[in-house]
Amino acid sequence: MMIPSPKDTGFEFQPYSGICTFGRAPHTREVSGADVAIVGVPYDGATSYRSGARFGPRAIREQSMLLWGYNNPLGVAPFKTLKVIDYGDVEVVPVDVLATHGAVNVEVSQIIKENVKVIALGGDHSIALPLLQAHARKYGRLAVIHFDAHPDTWDTEFGQQKFSHGTPFRRAIEQRLIDTSAYLQIGIRGPTSGKQDYEEALALGARMITIDEAMGLGLARILKEIKDRVADKPVYITLDIDSIDPAFAPGTGTPEVGGFSSYQVLQLLRGLKGLNIVGGDLVEVSPPYDHSNITSILASNLVFEYLSLIALNKLNVE
Ligand code: MN
Ligand code: MN
Repeated sequence: MMIPSPKDTGFEFQPYSGICTFGRAPHTREVSGADVAIVGVPYDGATSYRSGARFGPRAIREQSMLLWGYNNPLGVAPFKTLKVIDYGDVEVVPVDVLATHGAVNVEVSQIIKENVKVIALGGDHSIALPLLQAHARKYGRLAVIHFDAHPDTWDTEFGQQKFSHGTPFRRAIEQRLIDTSAYLQIGIRGPTSGKQDYEEALALGARMITIDEAMGLGLARILKEIKDRVADKPVYITLDIDSIDPAFAPGTGTPEVGGFSSYQVLQLLRGLKGLNIVGGDLVEVSPPYDHSNITSILASNLVFEYLSLIALNKLNVE
């Protein structure tokens, strides 16, 4: 027998009770009719230093319980405006990066074919490559707003390995998935192996806004440049949590000191209001290195901002 709940919807649960999906969105692989699918990719086999990002999707879902629903600065209630589903996780293969990327590409392609937008929870940043492959197949070459401490445009890592979390954007540019005139790397910093790391990213066509330049420009001028470059192109947002200072986001694999504050990155995301956002990811949350869930709390709030931007776009179309 089905025992009825005295409550009407999951949102009326207290944040500490019930089973976790992102924002209590229904967990289903029936994607037709949804506006947005939250998709976990619990894979960290391509990290170069501290692993643990395989636990990211679960931790972000757990901390999303405290997202009450209304975004005050943007004036929108994304879970009411959008039909959001939690798809669950892609079937990753921990010992095989290419098999994992293949699974991400296949599953995400099927979701977005149904006109459902995907927000992927990583997982390490290598998963951006198959996500970009799936999105470029549907939307054409993409404008990409890439928040990171690192350019992730190395050619190889660990000898001749082409697919690590340090290489996805070089592969994506080689595969012509990114419109490089609308590719911005924001928050880049830290010691590197040499000056060639930045030079190679610039040679590939990236507009690199290092943290030093970002702090000099200020948020308004960064946002203006993003908007000038992106215009009305289809935009994919990829956010490595290490773009944010490890004081705010310690739970990550390759922390670099001197990054954005939580507030600054929230403001940057809110400033993307009106752009044609077709999908995004939030990667590199590594709960074993977190403290008091501070990093996954931030990550869940950043995903809430993605949803809010997509919700505003839906309201503007209606
Ligand atoms: Mn990074
Ligand atoms: Mn990265």
